[in-house]
Amino acid sequence: MPTEEFPLPTDFSPESARLLRPDVEEFRQQAHEVVEWMAEYLARVGELPVQPDAAPGSIRVRLPATPPEHPEPMESILADFRNIVMPGMTHWNHPGFFGFFPANTSPPSILAEMLTATLGAQCMSWSTSPAATELEQVTMEWLAWMLKLPEGFTGVIQDTASAATLVALITARDRFTRATQPRRIEELTVYTSPEANSSVAKGARLAGFLPDRIRFVETDEGFAMRPDVLADLMAEDREAGLTPAAVVATVGTTSSAAVDPLPEICRVAGELSRGRPRPWVHVDAAFAGSAAILPEMRFILEGVEAADSLVFNPHKWLLVNFDCSAYFVRDVPALLRSFSASAHYLHAPHPGAAPDYRDWGIPLGRRFRALKLWFVLRRYGVTVLQTMLREHMRLGELFAAWVDQSPDFERLAAARFGLVCFRHAPAGEADEAALDARNERLLAALHASGKILLTPTRLAGKYCLRLSVGHLTTTEDDVRRAWELIHATAATG
Ligand SMILES: *Cc1c(COP(=O)(O)O)cnc(C)c1O
Repeated sequence: MPTEEFPLPTDFSPESARLLRPDVEEFRQQAHEVVEWMAEYLARVGELPVQPDAAPGSIRVRLPATPPEHPEPMESILADFRNIVMPGMTHWNHPGFFGFFPANTSPPSILAEMLTATLGAQCMSWSTSPAATELEQVTMEWLAWMLKLPEGFTGVIQDTASAATLVALITARDRFTRATQPRRIEELTVYTSPEANSSVAKGARLAGFLPDRIRFVETDEGFAMRPDVLADLMAEDREAGLTPAAVVATVGTTSSAAVDPLPEICRVAGELSRGRPRPWVHVDAAFAGSAAILPEMRFILEGVEAADSLVFNPHKWLLVNFDCSAYFVRDVPALLRSFSASAHYLHAPHPGAAPDYRDWGIPLGRRFRALKLWFVLRRYGVTVLQTMLREHMRLGELFAAWVDQSPDFERLAAARFGLVCFRHAPAGEADEAALDARNERLLAALHASGKILLTPTRLAGKYCLRLSVGHLTTTEDDVRRAWELIHATAATG
């Protein structure tokens, strides 16, 4: 029996009535204005400082501490967006953005996002948006085809690679803790390399693995995981009564784009498991995985046929704006055992006939992410995407060649996937601490210019700069200007 009713609203003024029943003509006009602004932004983003000159807190002091009590006109909201928000933005799709990794957006992706927002659909189960589910099935099959993934992998879109890796590690954990001869979580170990993305160790902790059961397998001089060391560590752990539960290999590390040797890693994982459940092998190809759509680069996924899961981010280097991570998994029933959740109010009238993607990952509610992926794949076609990837890698190699030719600069890793790790190391300066400080100053001076953005890392203990080419609009001229600026700035420092 209902016990209490809530009071009815008493302030249903004509103004609230008007706003709550949207004026479609007003929306149409505002949307046209916003689209004008968007087109202008895309045309001129290169003229803006790539990074704002903002101190922490300098934006929020310009915003009221409490929300408006009464409706505000759209004009003043848009004016504040232009005057307060925009000057505080870092422009990830600026042609001078060479930081982190490519995080592309593109016109077809933007258009699809506008449609997704307009539909406002929750795509948690087939019945809550049948077309969203089926478009996701189709686009994931297209991606699997583009990557030449072996038979047996099924794809699902996750929001991020971090979430996909967490999903893989939870499924791996359950393979052992829910086995016929179950293991306790304290007995389970996870292997990755110290060069793996921070999301791997975080995912392992979140999945419940004990921090001191996460093994960081030494890398070789090229920063790739050493399978011989992996084999030794796994054997030692087995001898100590522990059970290897998961190995996370990286194809394209975040620091230096190193590629862990998948075939050997899978062989080690399989060989040492005779008669026992094999550790789950997850491949984190978040950034570099896109390159595998090139026939000449497909080798980076060699060995994946023996892995259990793989993630790569179309939202990085495949022109789909954030967020859209493609997660491919072999053992779908295992995934569903770990992630299914049911409730009477979720009842769907189509048992088994189509996937309910709420059972394939962490959140219940899901965005219609397949739409932008579908728009991008169709608008560019595989060929244009391949051409773009080749061009970005060519520009990375060109930059690497300039670094190599300069006596005052040094490259610290192989140039791969458009990423070059380098430092300013003038002849005669051998003190590592001084070199670190010199390059930190160089980076600060480059950022102060507002023209380019690079991010730092450490390789073999050495502080260095990463230049990652990969934005849709970045040209050879942009890369050349970046090199000239770096060269000139270093000469004055
Ligand atoms: C970018 C990146 C991640 C994190 O991706 P999110 O989608 O932001 O979670 C993980 N691993 C690698 C190798 C990456 O390059």
